[in-house]
This record gives sequence, C-alpha cells and structure tokens, in this order.
Amino acid sequence: MNLSDQLSITAKNYPSKTAYVFQDEETSYMELESSVKKFASQLEKLGYQKGDHVALIVGNSPYYIAGLYGALRLGLVVIPINPLYTPHEMSYILNNGDVKAVITMDILLDKFVAIDDQLPKVNHYISCESGAEVDLDNHTLSSKMKSFTVMVQGGSVDYVGPNINEDDAAIILYTSGTTGKPKGAILSHHNLYSNARDVADYLTITREDRVVAALPMFHVFCLTVSLNAPLINGGTVLIMPTFSPSEVFRMTKDHHATVFAGVPTMYNYLLQSAKENKDSFSGIRLCISGGASMPVSLLKDFEQAFDVNISEGYGLSEASPVTCFNPLDRPRKPGSIGRSIIHVENKVVDERGDEVEIGEVGELIVQGPNVMQGYYNFPEETSVALRDGWLYTGDMAQMDDEGYFYIVDRKKDLILVGGYNVYPREVEEVLYSHPNVMEVAVVGVPDPELGEAVRSFVVVSDPTITEEILADFCKEQLVKYKIPTQIEFLDELPKNTTGKILRRSLRDKVTN
Ligand code: AMP
Repeated sequence: MNLSDQLSITAKNYPSKTAYVFQDEETSYMELESSVKKFASQLEKLGYQKGDHVALIVGNSPYYIAGLYGALRLGLVVIPINPLYTPHEMSYILNNGDVKAVITMDILLDKFVAIDDQLPKVNHYISCESGAEVDLDNHTLSSKMKSFTVMVQGGSVDYVGPNINEDDAAIILYTSGTTGKPKGAILSHHNLYSNARDVADYLTITREDRVVAALPMFHVFCLTVSLNAPLINGGTVLIMPTFSPSEVFRMTKDHHATVFAGVPTMYNYLLQSAKENKDSFSGIRLCISGGASMPVSLLKDFEQAFDVNISEGYGLSEASPVTCFNPLDRPRKPGSIGRSIIHVENKVVDERGDEVEIGEVGELIVQGPNVMQGYYNFPEETSVALRDGWLYTGDMAQMDDEGYFYIVDRKKDLILVGGYNVYPREVEEVLYSHPNVMEVAVVGVPDPELGEAVRSFVVVSDPTITEEILADFCKEQLVKYKIPTQIEFLDELPKNTTGKILRRSLRDKVTN
C-alpha cells in the first residue's frame, strides 16, 4: 500500500466525506482525488516520468496536498522545501536533489529569477495562485512557466498511474541531521505509508477526527501526523496557512477540531491566552507535541488550563519521522517521549553500540519500516547514520523500566564544563519552572579555564526579574557547575519556521 493508492480507496469508500477545510471551505475526498488524478495526468503530459524529482515549495494550502499526492500518483519523487528559504538555500537543494520541475506559488517566482541560470536541470516552474496580482505573462521565467490551476482543469479524471513499488523513493527531505550540511533523507512509499498508519493506529486517529494542520506542511511532523495520518483513514485536515493563536482557537471551535498537533513553542503561545479561549478547546480529545522537548511545567500548565491531555512524541526526518509517543491506554509521563510505536524499535546504546542499562544515558538508535533508505548522493553520511540495520539519531536518551524513553539532549548540544557533562535541557527545565520565565535556551560557550561555560537566554513576563533572582532560583535545584554563569534577557528567542529554538544562532551571537 502507498499514500496515493490509499487516497483512491478512501475516495471510493467515502466520496463526499470532507478531506480538508481551507479558508472555511470544505473539499471532499472525491474532489481531492479528482484534482490529484488530473494533476498527475498533466505532469505526465509535460514529459515527467516515474522516478523524476520535483520540488514542492508551497505554503500550507490545498495546492500542497494536490501537488504532493498528484506527483506521488505518477511515481515522481517529491522534495518539499521551506518557501521562506533564500534563493541561495533553494539553489543548493534543487541542484543537489536533481530537481526537474518546481511546483511553487506565483509570489515566490521572483526568487527563481536570480538562480534559474544555475539550475540547468529545471524545465518547468508550475505556479499556484496566491490571490496576489502577479503578471505571469510578462515574467522573466514565463517560457518555463505552467499554471497549476490550468493544468488541473485540463487533466484527466480517468488517469491511472504507473505501478508503485513499496521501495520506490517517494519523498526526499532535506535535513541537517547530525552534521551541519543539509542532506536529503530518502523516504520510500513504504516508509511514509507505514509511519502514517502506525501513528494513526497508536493515537487512534480515525475517520471521525478533524486534525488542525498548523505546523508547516514541508516539515515531516506535519506531513505524517497532521496530513497523512488523517487522510489515510478518511479524517479531515483543517488547513491553517500560518500559525496564529487566535486562528487556532477560531478554527478549532468553528470546525470542531478533535486533534491539535504542535511544537512546544506553539503550546506556549496558546497558553498565553488560555483564559479567554478555554472553551474553544473543549472538543479537542488529544493534543500532540513533538519536534523539540516539551518543558514539563508547560505541559502541566497547558493541560490544566485547557483540561486536555498532551501526548508528547519524538521523531526525526530520517524516520518518516515518528519513533515514540506517549500511549493513550497507559499513563503518559511528563518529560518523556513515550514508548516505541507499533512496528518500531528504539534502543539506547553506548559508544560501541551496546545497549546500556535501564536509566543510563546513551545514544538513541531506531529500527523499523519507517527508517530512511539513506541520504541522496551522500554515501559517507549514510554509512555514519545507518549502521548494522539501525538509524543512529544523534540524540542522547535514557529508558525507564516501563519502556518509556526520555530525550536528554542532542549529542552535539552537550556542554562540557571542566570535564563535567551538562545537558542544556536539564538547566532549561529548571528555568522554565520559574513562574515568570516564558522561554529559555541554554548553550555552551567557550571558557578559557573550564573549556566551556553554561550561558542562558531567557524571555520573561515580568521586567523586574533580574539575573540574580534566576541564578538564586537555579542554585536551589542545580549543582554549581550547571548554573548559568550568565543569563541574558531577550524579547524573543530565535526560532526556525517550525518553531524550534535555534541554539546555534544563540551560540554564534556569543562567540562572534
Ligand atoms: P527534524 O529532522 O527536523 O524533524 O528534527 C529531528 C530532531 O528534533 C531530533 O533528532 C531531536 O533532536 C528533535 N526532537 C524531535 N522531537 C523531540 C522531542 N519530543 N524531544 C526532544 N527533541 C526532539
């Protein structure tokens, strides 16, 4: 089975069921399936064949879903890219990923003018309408341009794609992984389908569910959890073009959402306006957190404020992405990423690859049908990440005696203070538990005597909070070498578009 065939089955079984809601308009599975077939038929007409690579550089919208599933129907390999990337960043991925066609928004086309001559393999720019006035006829790239809407209008609903094998590549996701250079993780049809299926089964996402897709769709967390998991079961995706707390509350209420998935910073923003909006979340049966560690104090405050359960999970691009989740039929443990989901095995190992004792810290490694085939054109990096049938995640973790895993930190974020290990997360959890600390990040910075020192950046809700107050607060809970030697106050922390705090740019801020 694969995502695209599953969509056909769902469309046949529940043709009039709503597949997604966008700008308050509902689209049925039959309508989605029809757009997918038509788009696939037109891609084929343009000369694209199974195995060709296309980039999908589109914001959260129906275009994203029809573009993705349409390309998959034809057996193309899709490379989703963050639309906010600079032309330089896009050019690297488009060349490295051997992209032949770019599906993008009309308002983004200008980004490609400067780099088109560096992209000899790109034949077409397929443009989706944003609603803005863009003069496409006189655009520098007009000779290579096609309109997504015109393509779909002229396509065939009778289109039948080629046979797709489970091991055929479906998506290549560019990620920095454990080393700095962006590399494309190759995910097969089986990788993606099995992970969506296993997540849906583990979290009981069914046809009755209406899932808020507030995370960016180019990110694998949104792709599998908020998009593919509901779509394979006939559920409904509530598409949010961008995250805003007021829109989340409105959509959730107006469209009877049952599941919300977000990264911890989103929960933080929602919590700020909990009082006025508690009722909006009354229909939500499950909140899902992932992508970064969920501070325990935030989890508890949120659950109490909205009277919902948050299930924290863990994943990475290379694993399509989910490997662990807090279960629904057993206690969820705050601070834990939960247990291995169905069909996936997680293990904590030492430097030699041997499993460590329960409670000991080591590197988390993963095995299962969701694990990537390798990095595209990066054999060396592939052999570092995939060893003896296991994916080495680069995350340090421990497991308790009930099989629950805890992420301690990324291996590379470990701070070494005079030979002692300091995991930023432990210090961050302490600072987060201060009632006036809203956001915090801890990094290691060079120190002439100790090798590294602990530096903290915080966002506080009360301007009278001083460095001394927070240092004293830490002293009550942490041994001396873990206490930040300096605490800097910021208006907000730098984050990527997925909402992950960018520790590296904070570190650079200190060292440059
Ligand atoms: P990406 O490939 O962009 O999805 O990033 C994957 C990385 O995000 C993982 O290797 C972890 O470092 C981090 N991550 C994801 N989920 C969690 C979590 N629940 N707790 C801590 N870190 C997480």
